[in-house]
Amino acid sequence: MNELLEYDREHIWHPYTSMINPLAVYEVESANGVYINLATGEKLIDGMSSWWSTIHGYNNERLNNAAKKQLDNMSHVMFGGLTHKPAVELTKKLLSLVPKGLNKVFYSDSGSVSVEVAVKMAIQYQLSRGKQYKRKIATIEGGYHGDTWHAMSVCDPIGGMHRMYGNRLPEQIFVPRPAIAFDQKWDNTSLEILEDIFSMNHMTMAAFILEPIVQGAGGMRFYHPNFLKGVRALCNKYDVLLIADEIATGFGRSGKMFACEWSDIVPDIMCVGKALTGGYISFAATITTNIVADTISKSAPHSFMHGPTFMGNPLACAIAGESLSILIEKSPLPRIAEIEEKMKKALIPLKECSNVADVRVLGAIGVVEMCEPVDMEKIQAQFVQEGVWIRPFGRLVYVMPPYIITDEELDKLMSALIKIVKL
Ligand code: PMP
Repeated sequence: MNELLEYDREHIWHPYTSMINPLAVYEVESANGVYINLATGEKLIDGMSSWWSTIHGYNNERLNNAAKKQLDNMSHVMFGGLTHKPAVELTKKLLSLVPKGLNKVFYSDSGSVSVEVAVKMAIQYQLSRGKQYKRKIATIEGGYHGDTWHAMSVCDPIGGMHRMYGNRLPEQIFVPRPAIAFDQKWDNTSLEILEDIFSMNHMTMAAFILEPIVQGAGGMRFYHPNFLKGVRALCNKYDVLLIADEIATGFGRSGKMFACEWSDIVPDIMCVGKALTGGYISFAATITTNIVADTISKSAPHSFMHGPTFMGNPLACAIAGESLSILIEKSPLPRIAEIEEKMKKALIPLKECSNVADVRVLGAIGVVEMCEPVDMEKIQAQFVQEGVWIRPFGRLVYVMPPYIITDEELDKLMSALIKIVKL
């Protein structure tokens, strides 16, 4: 181990790791297009888009130029009492892309914070209407919404990564996972169970939060669009706000610009992050309807009570604005459909392997669920040896490459995945 890696190991915490016995990390020297270039010389095809975010690839010329131009102008000013072109331009583009009916945008620093903001909005909305008793958030088991306190309280309480915090977290309402997968034959059973839960608990429910269609870090499952449609209808019927966490699915990943479009629904509040800046810099938005915003603003204290230091950061806004321009000028959806086809063709045959429990592909997301948890350190090294960057968790070996990946690069990514899974 070289000096840099030794220092890193001794002093720097990495995501979800021990400080005593951390898994190996690899030093990255640079990244370009779909390639992550290690200090040791290997060029790895990125299968992860740095956790759903780098949709246009690394070191993208347009995003670089947008960042440089903004840096030379101003990198940050406070958003209290001030505004700027990057925020306004970004907002125009964002509102042109999101489902119609969402009109008011609150910017924050990260996906988790945008979920906190969404939960606060829902609570303040109910308070503003004199419905103090509506103070809990309902959600689906097996979900994931981030690492901050309220976000953790709506993550899967049993199998999720925050389960150890258990009853220290605010108590929320959990409903069973949708029983019907994305492409299975629909039946109404899950919605009947759900209606019972709504009818028993709606007096305490401020909002229902879910990841539309794709449950990501909680298990990489794709559920049926009719389930989401049903939740929207129940939220309407029982006077509960619907929060769609599109932080992972937003900007094309599931094959639609936003996964809510699979069900043709509009949430009351939507969170976006990750790919918002093309994966360049941490930034997120909580977007809501005129009704929610106006209701909050009409009652005392007549303001939404949140305002982070780096809210509306101009540098992040400028990069995000350019990332959305790329999406608007040339829709990524046709290419995502091709990536989906190619991944299906390559991965579905793995279902025959005795160590594979299931294979699922939707949009530019490919998932191989193994029967047993993988040995992370070993499998990561094997992937690096094959020239690809794939980082599994638990029993899940999954990929979500940048949309700019070429057919040849995708073939290489698929071959490496298939080879290592079959070992
Ligand atoms: N919601 C979902 C669906 C996510 O996938 C994530 C990140 N994995 C988050 C929220 C939290 O976002 P961040 O890591 O930017 O705080």
